[in-house]
Amino acid sequence: MNTSLEQGQVLGKTSRVAVVVAHPDDETLWAGGLLLSHPEWSPFILTLCRGEDPDRAPRFVRALECLGAKGAMGNLDDGPDQFPLSTEHMEAAILSLLPRLEFDILLTHAPQGEYTWHRRHGEVSRAVQELWRDGRIQARALWQFAYEDGGGTYAPRPQKKASFQISLSDAVWHRKYGIINSIYGFDEASWEAMAVTRTEAFNRFAEPESIPPVAEDGQALTP
Ligand SMILES: [Zn+2]
Repeated sequence: MNTSLEQGQVLGKTSRVAVVVAHPDDETLWAGGLLLSHPEWSPFILTLCRGEDPDRAPRFVRALECLGAKGAMGNLDDGPDQFPLSTEHMEAAILSLLPRLEFDILLTHAPQGEYTWHRRHGEVSRAVQELWRDGRIQARALWQFAYEDGGGTYAPRPQKKASFQISLSDAVWHRKYGIINSIYGFDEASWEAMAVTRTEAFNRFAEPESIPPVAEDGQALTP
């Protein structure tokens, strides 16, 4: 577990933080505690889907206020059939919706997502990774959310082997839970509420080359 001192050393004077996610609620589920623990940051949160969802969009605006963030919403297809979207399509949407292209930390989904499973999470992850690798988005580090759900057998948990973990204070945990429960409307029996764990986990990369290659379905490739 990282101590607050170690967190300070790791995070330094970080202020320009971008969070690129598929859906309004992903920012809170996977990184809300991190953002709430750093009120000195100025995060920008981009969600690529549900921008015209009359239920979810206003909830996202309220979540932004609670997280002390600015943000934007895209309107990519998010139907139940989860038709694949091309990386190029994803990249164009991301570039058109970000207010700038230089950040200290770029946060996004893991290639395999955080649970079993939603196609858009992996697609967003791959697009962000390619934009960073090609220098079209510049950031000192890319952080991928690091959770697993035992192949769908339990609510998402932080990965034990994640390269960075942050333990949430009681106050931060309650505020995060409040966003999921009161703002997004997930009741206490939902997996979303159960996924509000006391720890958040991330895999951090300082170089694009250090990200392990993955297959199209997000599974790790074995050499
Ligand atoms: Zn999602």
